[in-house]
Amino acid sequence: MRPDRHEVLRQSLLEMREILLGVIERQKPQPEQTEGDIADQAARSAEIELAFELSDNERRILSQIEAALSKMDKGLYGRCERCRKAVEPKRLKMLPFARYCLRCQESAEKAAESGVEPWQESWRESEQPQQEG
Ligand SMILES: [Zn+2]
Repeated sequence: MRPDRHEVLRQSLLEMREILLGVIERQKPQPEQTEGDIADQAARSAEIELAFELSDNERRILSQIEAALSKMDKGLYGRCERCRKAVEPKRLKMLPFARYCLRCQESAEKAAESGVEPWQESWRESEQPQQEG
């Protein structure tokens, strides 16, 4: 495994996390908490907002990003949490916080459609997001 290869993904995860935190922040009913110098991020943020359709998804994805980052720290990154096989590199590139390989994800989605998520609960307890500082 090559850490430098993950470094790129790590950077995009960190970037996505920043943006999501911004999105979540703005969803709160707090008025004005503006930070000036983020024109680029704002544009990117708009894209991501659209992509995630501004729902509960932000928080969920944020947790997944946090989990992915912590897995990088532990050297567990890139493994499917369900079948423990390597997640497809292409998939990681598109979805750096992917927790499952394509096959497992598909079966998860099928399960979700039928309202059952048999194995998706366990990580919530074990992968608590950690605050920095
Ligand atoms: Zn899998």
